[in-house]
Amino acid sequence: MQVPFYKPSISEEDISRVVSCLRSGWLTTGIRTQEFESQFAQLIGVKHAVALNSCTAALHLALESISLKRGDLVIVPTMTFAATAEVVRYFDAIPVFVDCDPKTLCMDMRSLKDALFAISQRKPWPGVPNHQGQLKAIIPMHYAGQMADMVTIRALALQYECVVIEDAAHTLPAYTRTSAQSDWEMVGQRSDIACFSFYANKCITTGEGGMLVTNHDEWAKRARMMSLHGLSKDAWKRFTQEGSWYYEIVAPGYKYNLTDIAASLGSAQLMRVESLWMQRKTLAKRYQSALERLSRFVECPQEQAHRQHSWHLFAVQLKLDALKISRDQVINKLKEKGVTTSVHYMPLHLHPYYLAHYPVPMGTFKHSEQAWTRLLTLPLYPSMTSLEQEYVVESLTEVLSQ
Ligand SMILES: *Cc1c(COP(=O)(O)O)cnc(C)c1O
Repeated sequence: MQVPFYKPSISEEDISRVVSCLRSGWLTTGIRTQEFESQFAQLIGVKHAVALNSCTAALHLALESISLKRGDLVIVPTMTFAATAEVVRYFDAIPVFVDCDPKTLCMDMRSLKDALFAISQRKPWPGVPNHQGQLKAIIPMHYAGQMADMVTIRALALQYECVVIEDAAHTLPAYTRTSAQSDWEMVGQRSDIACFSFYANKCITTGEGGMLVTNHDEWAKRARMMSLHGLSKDAWKRFTQEGSWYYEIVAPGYKYNLTDIAASLGSAQLMRVESLWMQRKTLAKRYQSALERLSRFVECPQEQAHRQHSWHLFAVQLKLDALKISRDQVINKLKEKGVTTSVHYMPLHLHPYYLAHYPVPMGTFKHSEQAWTRLLTLPLYPSMTSLEQEYVVESLTEVLSQ
């Protein structure tokens, strides 16, 4: 049997919506994108949603909107994807890495507090021994679909006077609350700006795509304008009949708009966001119970109290001391059996670019470094069958027990 790492869920309705866009005569940003944006804003419960061609573009424009400047500091987790930190470098600004919580692999609050304190005192922090810049933002990332501690992050951002931008690429939907008595809060509600991804394997997809959401009028306006060459008109009005030909370039912007083809897929997927989530939840629960027998060898991800996990990824940690083989050997042996797995992530501070520019001694961000050697992401996608999932568990059992 072959089990891929991911299969997108594309329904007949998804296909017919895209086809109807193709037949409509309007392919690029237009009415379908606008509809997708308003549906998305409503789902998250925020004022503005700006559809873009990737989450990376959304993160870039989020930092552009808050006027990030050369030499400014932005706190990012080291346990994340390339995009979270590279957007800081687009401005020649400085990424300040913090470690992850060993349980959730989201940003660790102790490490964040230490970093904030060090920066505010102009003291050295790993990777940034000398820094004169101003702290402008914290970018938490909700690892695998479980939200970081947004309540604490928000409070710290207020204390240290910086903006919070969520890298919400893994979370649609996900919730957090402060106590059993309080209401659930949707991802994107406690930050200044949140950025979502519609890349092929994310919770919903448009092939490639992203969304920036915010309640801040000026930032939304700026992001929208910069997403289309910095043109002075409400970007998409230019494409409609009532829009005139006249525009002014007010800043050197980018080409980050989403097409109506992609947005029509996005809207169709958004209608199924709950059922896709239910399917992932069911699969995650099944993994958890099936892997209990393997608890000597693997540690499963757990939903923490006051969190609702989106289950974008199911990343286990191998107990290497109990195993005769390495993580990479496990990956290769699973591959031989037809099961494709992945690793999320090699910490950013260990990559050659960051090692060269922001060198950090080994052992500094120890939770991330330890997790990285043990991490293994198992296949999980809404259309995964019980047979496929059983085959993954069976294959993993064979590989680990030998
Ligand atoms: C996928 C991903 C991104 C980037 O999303 P794109 O839409 O591909 O630009 C950013 N951050 C994280 C954590 C991701 O997993």
